[in-house]
Amino acid sequence: MVRDVGISEVGPRDGLQMLKGIMPTEKKKAWISALAASGLPEIEVSSFVPPKLLPQMADAAEIVAFALTLPGLHVAALAPNAKGAARAIEAGAHKITLPLSVSRSHSLANVRKTPDEMVDEVRQSTRLRDASPSRPAIEVGLSTAFGCTIEGTVAESEVVRLAIAAVEAGADEVGLADTTGMANPEQIKRVIAGVRREIGDRLTGVHLHNTFGLGLANALAAYEAGLRAFDSSQAGLGGCPYAPGASGNIVTEDLVYMFESMGVRTGIDLWKLMAGRRILADAFPDEPLYGYVPAAGLPKNFRPAA
Ligand code: ZN
Repeated sequence: MVRDVGISEVGPRDGLQMLKGIMPTEKKKAWISALAASGLPEIEVSSFVPPKLLPQMADAAEIVAFALTLPGLHVAALAPNAKGAARAIEAGAHKITLPLSVSRSHSLANVRKTPDEMVDEVRQSTRLRDASPSRPAIEVGLSTAFGCTIEGTVAESEVVRLAIAAVEAGADEVGLADTTGMANPEQIKRVIAGVRREIGDRLTGVHLHNTFGLGLANALAAYEAGLRAFDSSQAGLGGCPYAPGASGNIVTEDLVYMFESMGVRTGIDLWKLMAGRRILADAFPDEPLYGYVPAAGLPKNFRPAA
């Protein structure tokens, strides 16, 4: 399978954590199976947070174990701290993402730690990684890298400083997350250039939200700036409980359509991908499912990139 970009589906984590209802474990498995069958190379399947805080993710270990049985799938999970990372490693996740918020206020609200205390959690997590036989990749997701609903502007120098700190703490990869959807394409290019100057190709991807409708424009900007890894979620589910007013992720279906119609290979079958929405619609009949392409249907001239 030749892919020009790697799309990581984060709906089962970023999406389900925001919904009022809890998706039963068997339904999650069916949804993740459908997503994987469409050719998605990576799925962030769950989050190793205390079940008390997020009952939607209480079955994280079982979901990771199930996802590991799907052939060829790279299984990613989120962990808010070293304790969560230990659980994710034990469950066998291939990749563990730790959120490191650039905004101090968001960091305190989200994980009750300052950004620099989170760097310590990253360091502890990479030590656990080094001691484990499976050696999963540790990614640091720099949250609120483009703006914060609490603080407003986030200093680009802080994004760069924390990216360096994450790599020094042993992170394999660093991603830039527009948790609040406040980024614009020029800013995306500028921040990517600034971070890459310091950590090179350890900067791998972007995690974008669509709060102000600039999600796809920002994804294209990141692609043009040279990044090749993109998070998105089916039907645009998602958000952050501690970023008030932020809405869902960029829609996987629309992102795949943009790339494929540009001739950029994603390795994803858009028809199969869209079929996965039915499972969501059945599970959450009252939740809005987003996406321009699913609403319009694929145009007659659409051909997947070859
Ligand atoms: Zn997110």
